[in-house]
Amino acid sequence: MKLARCIFQAFAIAIFFGQCVSSAPTGNSKPLQIYCIDVEGGQATLFVTPQGESLLIDTGWDGFNGRDADRIVAAAKDAGISTIDYVLITHYHSDHVGGARQLAARIPIGAFVDHGDNMETNDAPAMTGWNAYQKLLASGKYKRITVKPGDTLPIRGAEFIIVNGGGKVLDKPLSNAGTKNENCEPVPPPAADHTENEFSLGLVMNFGNLRLVDLGDLPWAKELELVCPVNKLGHAYIYIATHHGFNGSGSPALVHGITPSVAIMENGAKKGGSPSAWDTVRSSPGLGALYQLHWSEEGGAAHNSASHFLANLEGPDGGHYFKITVRPSGEFVVLNSRTGQRDDIGPPRLY
Ligand SMILES: [Zn+2]
Repeated sequence: MKLARCIFQAFAIAIFFGQCVSSAPTGNSKPLQIYCIDVEGGQATLFVTPQGESLLIDTGWDGFNGRDADRIVAAAKDAGISTIDYVLITHYHSDHVGGARQLAARIPIGAFVDHGDNMETNDAPAMTGWNAYQKLLASGKYKRITVKPGDTLPIRGAEFIIVNGGGKVLDKPLSNAGTKNENCEPVPPPAADHTENEFSLGLVMNFGNLRLVDLGDLPWAKELELVCPVNKLGHAYIYIATHHGFNGSGSPALVHGITPSVAIMENGAKKGGSPSAWDTVRSSPGLGALYQLHWSEEGGAAHNSASHFLANLEGPDGGHYFKITVRPSGEFVVLNSRTGQRDDIGPPRLY
């Protein structure tokens, strides 16, 4: 099976320093491109469909001389786009909405997508992010689209379905989903999280047979509403680890329920990448590879992937990213911008 072989090859790289290099997608059909951009423990994930339409999930942090906005613009340029059609703000924490102002100063944006108004009005950083976002909207330059679970984003070339947002989750299963989840046995949950995280937007992307899950910073208890007792999300080929791989999210019920083949943890050196969350992903049945944007200091030697799977190693930061190029067949290539190596991942498993 190609998936198993290639993922075995990918692991072999880490051990034997061999190669699992493949050619770029071939054929006439254009691929879908996904960039997992390093914004130092925040989120900025850019999707560009074969039709050239684009969705950015979150904008990283404010400040740092526009570091995160510059990295997003560089990814957009690499993808061949000069406008970002939709910028989805999962929630109003500063590692998600913070970079919106600087990004808007650097590249045209069509519309912002959000879950509604800020729900954490007693938190100064959330209010700062919210106020700056409101100011941006007040310029009148941008359309604002507020969405709820079950809504589909108006983007051509891939299907983006909102599955959580505003404190609610899908009320019925997606297509190819809805079976009983065998991973719902009680596990001691982490402390409850009633911050803006609870209101995070999250989505499922369907591109042919390939399903990707990204729930933003959704807390554990809300994840359970999505996958227990029945799994409303079904199986996902790619899992963007919830909440940067922080242990307040990433329950076994979610991760082992959706059984990803490939997981990507958008963590920083000192943010996310918790050992227990890492263990849950690593022990997920059928997982082939866990990519991390950063070596996690908290994870140490025992809870980090091999260097082949890390975009940024321990020490000075290079701002490296992962680029995923998905063929219409669902097969995809993961490029690590630090090493230039490409892992060729086979077609999605059929269930
Ligand atoms: Zn976050």
